[in-house]
Amino acid sequence: MLSLGIGPGDEVIVPAFTFFASISAVLQTGAKPVLADIGTDSYTLNPEKTEALINSNTKVIMPVHLYGIPARMTELTELATQYHLNIVEDFAQSVGAFYNNNPAGSIGKINGSSFYPVKNLGALGDGGIITTNDPDLAEFCRVFRNYGSPRKYEFEKIGVNSRLDELQAAFLLVKLKYLDRWLKEKNKIALRYFKNLKGLQAVKFFKPDDLSIPAWHIFPICCEERDKLQQFLKQLDIETLIHYPIPPYRQPALQFLNCSAEKFPESEKIASKELSLPIYPGLQEDKIDYICEKIIEFYHKPRR
Ligand SMILES: *Cc1c(COP(=O)(O)O)cnc(C)c1O
Repeated sequence: MLSLGIGPGDEVIVPAFTFFASISAVLQTGAKPVLADIGTDSYTLNPEKTEALINSNTKVIMPVHLYGIPARMTELTELATQYHLNIVEDFAQSVGAFYNNNPAGSIGKINGSSFYPVKNLGALGDGGIITTNDPDLAEFCRVFRNYGSPRKYEFEKIGVNSRLDELQAAFLLVKLKYLDRWLKEKNKIALRYFKNLKGLQAVKFFKPDDLSIPAWHIFPICCEERDKLQQFLKQLDIETLIHYPIPPYRQPALQFLNCSAEKFPESEKIASKELSLPIYPGLQEDKIDYICEKIIEFYHKPRR
């Protein structure tokens, strides 16, 4: 965003429901994050709600392909064109996903992703990537990440130290070869969950739309009695997680944004109902079936 000249006085539209980092990135530039509720169908930036927030200070729309499911990029890209805004994708959870044959991270003007160890393509420590087709923006980033130094001992701007560690780069080059295989395997796991649980009224899925090929970072469901189900599964040694129990606008650090939760009914719903089921390359079919059996058992048992 700094490469685009975003700073104080500018507004960036971000989903109200995302990992905290999407919003803190906007704040680091001095710009104002404007939170838009997510859609009922896409679970990320809702194009209608996004359009309603555009004004003369808006500079960027930041879709976040949460869970590895691409946002509604056709509509969001049209909005960006219509209002002369830039798209900046946060594809930290969606390396390997596609929208309308375009890889996540190739649609926006300039985009950011993460190699944090648990991500689809994770390093063995921290790392990340910026993608752009614009040579000037790429050059800005190369210089900025190296203290603002284009040549040894010459500093043309005030930058930061944000180089990718060489060892991490080497690990990533090896892991990159397996990415497709791992994602295919995760997709098979997701399809098995869909098949096994589809009859359950109490469980709803996050279904990618027809133009999307997801890259399941996690496998989320939306379920009734979420916390009780999580406890039940935990007793059986089935670990689940919640992404995320406290949405950004409820975080102490962001209270100054003055965003009341009533503005984000869909985000509230996901925060109270989302549960992430086990998904990782190597998860055996009989294990998936066992997990599903237990979930079905939970909802069919007499009320606890
Ligand atoms: C992980 C994540 C980030 C941050 O990545 P870091 O490598 O920790 O900086 C940003 N956005 C989303 C949606 C993420 O999941």
